[in-house]
Amino acid sequence: MATSNPVIVVGAGPVGLCLALALAQQDVAVTLIETLSDDTFLDQVPRAGSNHPATLEMFDRIGLYDKIEPRGIVAPKFHYWDRQEGALIAEFDHALLKDDTKFPFVLQCERIKIIEEALAMAKAHPRVTVRMSTTLTGFEQTADGVLARVTNAAGEVETIRGSYIVSAEGARSVVRKDLDIEFEGFTYPERTLNIEVAYDFKQHGYTERNYISDPVEYSNLFHWKGPPDRWRIHFPTDPNEDEKALTRPEAMQARLKGFLKLDRDFEICGSNLYAVHQRVAKTFRAGRGILAGDSAHVNSPIGGMGLNSGVHDAFNLADKLARILHGETDETELDRYDRQRRQIAVKHTQAQTIRNKRLLEERDPAVRKRNHDELRRSAEDPELARKFLLRTSLIESLREAEQIP
Ligand SMILES: Cc1cc2nc3c(=O)[nH]c(=O)nc-3n(C[C@H](O)[C@H](O)[C@H](O)COP(=O)(O)OP(=O)(O)OC[C@H]3O[C@@H](n4cnc5c(N)ncnc54)[C@H](O)[C@@H]3O)c2cc1C
Repeated sequence: MATSNPVIVVGAGPVGLCLALALAQQDVAVTLIETLSDDTFLDQVPRAGSNHPATLEMFDRIGLYDKIEPRGIVAPKFHYWDRQEGALIAEFDHALLKDDTKFPFVLQCERIKIIEEALAMAKAHPRVTVRMSTTLTGFEQTADGVLARVTNAAGEVETIRGSYIVSAEGARSVVRKDLDIEFEGFTYPERTLNIEVAYDFKQHGYTERNYISDPVEYSNLFHWKGPPDRWRIHFPTDPNEDEKALTRPEAMQARLKGFLKLDRDFEICGSNLYAVHQRVAKTFRAGRGILAGDSAHVNSPIGGMGLNSGVHDAFNLADKLARILHGETDETELDRYDRQRRQIAVKHTQAQTIRNKRLLEERDPAVRKRNHDELRRSAEDPELARKFLLRTSLIESLREAEQIP
């Protein structure tokens, strides 16, 4: 039987914050633990930011959408380009999903803006206790709850009692390690270089979101609202080259010049280098310890599915935990959470992101041509295009999850 202790949510990333808000709005008390302090919270490296229609519906449900929309860019279209030919292969328009969703577009709004708004909402909610500068170091399960060990803001070791503990700590989850849950999968040898540049790529025909295939240097290009208005471009890198060499200003300028075939310098506003993993936890639940978001699954950012599928975990789990804690159902619902969300992580998120990368980096000219022809066919036929968009917008995966008993 559930206790009246709060649900402990570890991590104030997009997943932990959405979970905390969705629980609190169903009258469940939450203690949200975040290792970063108020002073450092907004200093995080730029990461996710393409928010798909299904995710926007969820943000809307908790009142977050209206706060982030003015800070983002509404992007109804996305493109596939062939860099070798310098040609647009296909344009997809979410307008085709107007009967499937209230939000027939992607909102380009960076993770940092989303968590800034969501954290303010969590702090203002009477059912959420936010503990900044508090780091989870381990936990144990008791007969009717959990005991989380943390180092608090004063640097002291403290125990926090909860009904359940949800790890929304990201890929390095302490909860997952404590539960000895395997993180199955692999890491790509090459890292991705991310360059932010204040330059208008639209003048070259690009739209807000672009996937660019090339056998040598495939890339993704996304537009972000400023100030300063800027574009983020991702390039693969040689696994043997060291970080310093890759992020030297001249090296980054050379990549941009090569990409745009323009002999001029660009205004680079930021850069970072990151490793790309494809991993899924063997289970998303062990007793009262539950995994969600990056602590349960990580994937290549091509297709923008990590944050989105993590937020979908959060809402699926919130509804189940609320019903359990209100005595309307039992804990077997948590096994359903595992079955639903794990299947989606493996069958959709992993499979799709691995396919996305292969599509962009394909070297065999015949296979490239076949892939590009297929994209063109899909984009030109409204029924095929709608099917394609239902998949990329993650609406299909949500509908499928609902069918899993
Ligand atoms: C360069 C890049 C681009 C990306 N682009 C996209 C994109 O366009 N679309 C998309 O959907 N995804 C994208 N992703 C993936 C996306 O950023 C992640 O999937 C998403 O941030 C995961 O959210 P999360 O809340 O699970 O974890 P995180 O965002 O990692 O948040 C975890 C939080 O937990 C805190 N924490 C960690 N350990 C502890 C602890 N022990 N105690 C207390 N607190 C702790 C951290 O400080 C952090 O605040 C991208 C990733 C990268 C690297």
